[in-house]
Amino acid sequence: AKRRGRNTFQWYTDELNRKVTERVSLRHALQQAIEQRQFELHYQPQIHHSGRVAGVEALIRWHHPERGNIPPGQFISLAEDTGQIIPISEWVLETACRDAMVLNAQSATPMTMAINVSPMQFQRPGFLDSVKNVLARSGLPPALLELELTEGVLMDSAEHTIQALKALRQLGVHIALDDFGTGFSSLSYLKRLPINKLKVDRSFVRDVATDSRDAAIVEGVVTMADKLGLEVLIEGVETAEQFHHLRMLQCDHFQGYYFARPMALSVLKHFLDSPFAA
Ligand code: C2E
Ligand code: CA
Ligand code: CA
Ligand code: CA
Repeated sequence: AKRRGRNTFQWYTDELNRKVTERVSLRHALQQAIEQRQFELHYQPQIHHSGRVAGVEALIRWHHPERGNIPPGQFISLAEDTGQIIPISEWVLETACRDAMVLNAQSATPMTMAINVSPMQFQRPGFLDSVKNVLARSGLPPALLELELTEGVLMDSAEHTIQALKALRQLGVHIALDDFGTGFSSLSYLKRLPINKLKVDRSFVRDVATDSRDAAIVEGVVTMADKLGLEVLIEGVETAEQFHHLRMLQCDHFQGYYFARPMALSVLKHFLDSPFAA
């Protein structure tokens, strides 16, 4: 037992060293990515229940020259820890608003641009100003910008969080609560915070056709949101069967691979010409 204990410890320290080394190397690679602009935004359509494309969500892509594509799940939280999320987020905001102008010039109906806002980005004192500046530079109408925040940010519903949200709302910007239902926060913030939309997390969607508890949760959220005057978007719709079950509920918007994957701006432009031709 003693020897196994030592081996386990050895394995543990090796593993730890490997992780630390990997983080250091990823951090350096991220710095280069920022300097050499290795990022790209892909856009995933958000579908109104009428079938119209109501907007898109901007999702970052990192094309590393040697390692290939590195998904955001592998670097966003590290970038949060190192503070590198700040320059990355500024680039995302700027680029997405500029692209939103391009899309809206092409689209017959207004299209919203949803952006993922990281907790560190949101909590910085200069955030409101940077949103203001980007809107002014791009010319994007504020109501077409939607900021997606996670429950983690809002749970800390300290006075400054509420004030920051109110100031953003006063600009005319919309606020969506991302990954709704996955946090452990209380529902009371829905009463206090000026939110426009709930994005129901895809974990409730996966088995919605077969698990009546998932269906009940989604239905309950939709009913509650309706009474609170909030919009609802269901994330992660992958199959016709899921959509069939979800469309019976009075949801406003849907997003997921069933409708469209995230795509480059140039591809999105073609998609918008004939959304569901393929
Ligand atoms: P998220 O905000 O919840 O974004 C939705 C994720 O689900 C995206 O993964 C999207 O590609 C994926 N997805 C969309 N439809 C489906 C579906 O039908 N099935 C499945 N299985 N997945 C679907 P992605 O692009 O890998 O992004 C992962 C997370 O990284 C995002 O989760 C978000 O939290 C973060 N992220 C992405 N881009 C940014 C960014 O520009 N800034 C910040 N701060 N975070 C970002
Ligand atoms: Ca999101
Ligand atoms: Ca989400
Ligand atoms: Ca997420």
